Amino acid sequence: MIVRDCPICAVPLAEETYEGFPVGRCPQCQGTLLDLSRYESIKKIPEKTLTELETEARNGFQGDNPEPIRCPRCRLAMEKRPLAVPGFDNLHVDLCRNCSLVWLDGGELAMAQLAHQATPAFRDKQEMKRRAAARDADPERKAAFDKAVAKLPDKSSPVREGLNEAFRDALLRIFIRPFPWWLP
Ligand SMILES: [Zn+2]
Ligand SMILES: [Zn+2]
Repeated sequence: MIVRDCPICAVPLAEETYEGFPVGRCPQCQGTLLDLSRYESIKKIPEKTLTELETEARNGFQGDNPEPIRCPRCRLAMEKRPLAVPGFDNLHVDLCRNCSLVWLDGGELAMAQLAHQATPAFRDKQEMKRRAAARDADPERKAAFDKAVAKLPDKSSPVREGLNEAFRDALLRIFIRPFPWWLP
């Protein structure tokens, strides 16, 4: 990505790699400029842990900029698109249709990732496998999980072949911290 200026602070964006993709990051407001397609990918396949995302969201979020901004590349007005994050109203992503670039204010990229992780679509089998691997790497959590599974009334529950929705949700509540973190 060629160096652009922050659409809010007008200082040059730093070229960074985020989740394996090049992005522009404002050193002042922590806002992020990136390709729309990469934004979609980053939301869906986070490599960062929930803790990392939470820390980033907490540290970076300074409020959503409600003012219209211009695309740092073509200078056309960017379009405000709602960003749905539980517990927050009126968050936006700014989109340039001309360049397919999106702008997210500080912390909002991590928040978009966290919000995506809260959707049922995210809790698919692949994701469960990834989390199961992380869980199994921690002996204490693995033991707790095995104990919980052993207590299931039906001993033949096909845990290894995939869990049904209700069971999965129950386990998620036990083994993954509540979401969103900013609500009591
Ligand atoms: Zn800025
Ligand atoms: Zn543009």
